[in-house]
Amino acid sequence: MASILSSLPGIPFGNSERTRECRNSDDMVDFYRREFGRAPLLVLTNREPIVWEGAGTLSCPPGGVSSTIHRLLGQVGGEWIALRDSAGPDLLRVPPPRESPESPGYLLHRLSVPRELRDAHYAGFSNGVLWPFFHADPERIDASPDTFSAYVQVNRRMAGKVVESLTTLSPGAVWIHDYQLALVAREIRRMAGDHLPPLAFFWHIPWVDIPTSEGLPWLSELVDGLLCHDRIGFQTEGYRERFLETVRLIHGSRASWDGERLSVLTEGGLRTLSLGVYPVSIDPSHFDRLSRDPEGIRGAREILREAGLLDSGEEIAPYLISVERMDYSKGFLERVEILEEFFTRYPERIGALSLLQVAPPSRQSVEAYRRYAGQVERAVNRLNARFGRPDWTPVRTIARSISQEVLAPLYRSSAGALITATKDGMNLVAKEFLACQRGRDGVLFLSRHTGAAQTMEGLTMIDPFDAPLSARLIHQGLSLDPEIRRRKNDRAVSAIERNNVCRWMADNLRALGSISVSAGR
Ligand code: UDP
Repeated sequence: MASILSSLPGIPFGNSERTRECRNSDDMVDFYRREFGRAPLLVLTNREPIVWEGAGTLSCPPGGVSSTIHRLLGQVGGEWIALRDSAGPDLLRVPPPRESPESPGYLLHRLSVPRELRDAHYAGFSNGVLWPFFHADPERIDASPDTFSAYVQVNRRMAGKVVESLTTLSPGAVWIHDYQLALVAREIRRMAGDHLPPLAFFWHIPWVDIPTSEGLPWLSELVDGLLCHDRIGFQTEGYRERFLETVRLIHGSRASWDGERLSVLTEGGLRTLSLGVYPVSIDPSHFDRLSRDPEGIRGAREILREAGLLDSGEEIAPYLISVERMDYSKGFLERVEILEEFFTRYPERIGALSLLQVAPPSRQSVEAYRRYAGQVERAVNRLNARFGRPDWTPVRTIARSISQEVLAPLYRSSAGALITATKDGMNLVAKEFLACQRGRDGVLFLSRHTGAAQTMEGLTMIDPFDAPLSARLIHQGLSLDPEIRRRKNDRAVSAIERNNVCRWMADNLRALGSISVSAGR
């Protein structure tokens, strides 16, 4: 693969001059119009973008990728197909965003599948096999039989819905998201042939080194399914390179890569597609605003009080923060080891710095997640018993989801964020934390195994697999001159502003637009 990979260009598609000007949601819509005119967009995700709150009320949690696509779709019009998560009708008309009431809004198709099938697709294959596999944690793979066939069936049903939509809708592109839906494009082509709008895919999670495909009966099917797209987006260069290596592992010299386009002679015929790199981002000004909002600050103080970090005089005790779903890929156990090293090597920190750990439960229907949550609780209790004092606890856990309105001021008033993911496609929390630290001296300690670490510069990288090194780096980082820390944060925030989620969207749209042009549509 070396010869193929050596032809990778230094800066991939994502950095074009044309998308540099995309700063906010109006720019995003202009950008869409330049690429697709009045054509609508068709989007597919596993999860619904909105929460159904009964009788005509819908809400979309703001700030992330899903809400950015939701805003765009509301303004340019189109359809979104997702698997149903809650009550309400099968078809919802989602109104346009408040700021542009004259826009068309979009239709949300909520696909229902029988409970058992859905569980086997989601908890079974997606999160029991694909997630641990692509987060380099093969020991957690649950090899229950038949979950792959459920995965295929659910992907087929999604494809059926797309084909149905295409009878009345002529979208500029069909944009499919993430590892739960990797075979939808294959199924669409099987049902409807090749005369289709451009099919694009975004792979949000890491792509890992795969030295052999032996013992992985589903791998070549998954890869060939992905090759059915016209374009695939990855978060980092590294993930794209590893994907190419896997294609080569499976297809050998039948695959060729010219630095932009990949051609593969598969059993189904010649597939040619392009592969781009687009690191997912956030809207930093949204988080900066939230971090100063009085109502959010009140909510944050409640959490700090609950965690014992706010005394009766309303003084906040110094704390590091970590925010993530209770997922083994986030490195909770590694973090406990790092803290053990930290308090052992630097006893002056005992009683002087806590960790506030926001850790909502996640994927509780998956056995590996339930087991992990128990292990983490025991490890934290051990640490607290070893280093705790009657008036001070090293790690405080909030085991429920907290809104971003409250998270933002918590990021802002912390001494730093401790991100210990052992593997993470991007890690948006890192960017959110920095966005809330404009003009502040809180330090981001970021695991080098995250997409964020691989796509941002000038940050303090730690390694969750090297507790002594990480402990030393945390101590050093917190001891740095506050002015240097502030300058470092401001530089990082400026970089996130330049590469915000709107820019991510524009880069993707530009790439989708170029497929439709090259296909002469
Ligand atoms: N988040 C939240 N409330 C919580 C915990 C997390 O709103 O209690 C949000 C957080 O602000 C971030 C997202 O969940 O936007 C997590 O994204 P990330 O990329 O860090 O990890 P993922 O969960 O996607 O693996």
